Amino acid sequence: KELIENSIDAKSKNIHIIIKNAGKTLVQIIDDGMGMNQNDAAICFQKHTTSKIKETIDIMHINTMGFRGEALSSIASIAEVELKTKTQDDSIGTLIIIDNSKIQKKTQIATPKGTSIAVKNLFFNIPARKNFLKSDKIEMKHILESFMQLAIANHQISFKLNNDGKIIYNIAATNLKQRIIQVFGKKYQQKILPIKEETSIVSLDGFLGNPLDARKTKGEQFLYVNKRFIKSGYLNHAIKNAMHNIIHPDQYPSYFIFLRIKPSDIDINIHPNKIEVKFEDEKAIYQILKSTCKKSIGM
Ligand code: ADP
Ligand code: MG
Repeated sequence: KELIENSIDAKSKNIHIIIKNAGKTLVQIIDDGMGMNQNDAAICFQKHTTSKIKETIDIMHINTMGFRGEALSSIASIAEVELKTKTQDDSIGTLIIIDNSKIQKKTQIATPKGTSIAVKNLFFNIPARKNFLKSDKIEMKHILESFMQLAIANHQISFKLNNDGKIIYNIAATNLKQRIIQVFGKKYQQKILPIKEETSIVSLDGFLGNPLDARKTKGEQFLYVNKRFIKSGYLNHAIKNAMHNIIHPDQYPSYFIFLRIKPSDIDINIHPNKIEVKFEDEKAIYQILKSTCKKSIGM
């Protein structure tokens, strides 16, 4: 997830993910984004190195997925990492091999513009942590969940996902509706209702699955704030509540909803995975979301 987010922050148009053994042997992300020059490539694995904050004031206006400079340094401490990267302006790229947080090799290499990061032999140096990894099936499920969350929000990017030599997804850049269909299938061709609203507190858009197709098993519930996937029982309730006449209490509606809120009106730092958000004006957002959903289903 962190590596894909870095590729998105680097303005990539194509992102290719290669997985082996549910990520335990290999997680590799190849992008065609802005890449790094030799100097940045050499320091990006150090703690708290980020290119996303240049001045203190930037912290109030974060529009990128990352900004703490923690992901690469954490990854480099628990795996063998191979980085290949090149910027548009440089004629030659950089190869860096790291294990145990130490640079083992640094050399020039011919490589296309963009970045490839291969994370190999996860937890090779911490066997106790390795034992805590779940079965391949469960770890792969987590990978796919993160992939879907990012692929839905970034439909203007084309993605390829390769698992143990098989292509699982190969999806072109498109609009949100088509991306939902690319990821979850033709069942969403007809059965999807657009939602849209703009207020001074929040603007929102996206799609609701047809409430008549709500299922007893959890379907697709994708809620985003400023393009960041979040989980919110409270806002989920607003959506369900909007449909209370048409769906059974133990059914789950599906939805793909994007909220846009001024970064200063939310706090994304309450949860280490940044998956829960605190809203300045939670109640108003609940009401706006509920009434917008109601309008969309014609109630
Ligand atoms: P953060 O994303 O919070 O800045 P990371 O540890 O994820 O921290 O990445 C550190 C830095 O490495 C980034 O700020 C960026 O400058 C650089 N970087 C990482 N991945 C890429 C990539 N795919 N393309 C270009 N630059 C990257
Ligand atoms: Mg990052």
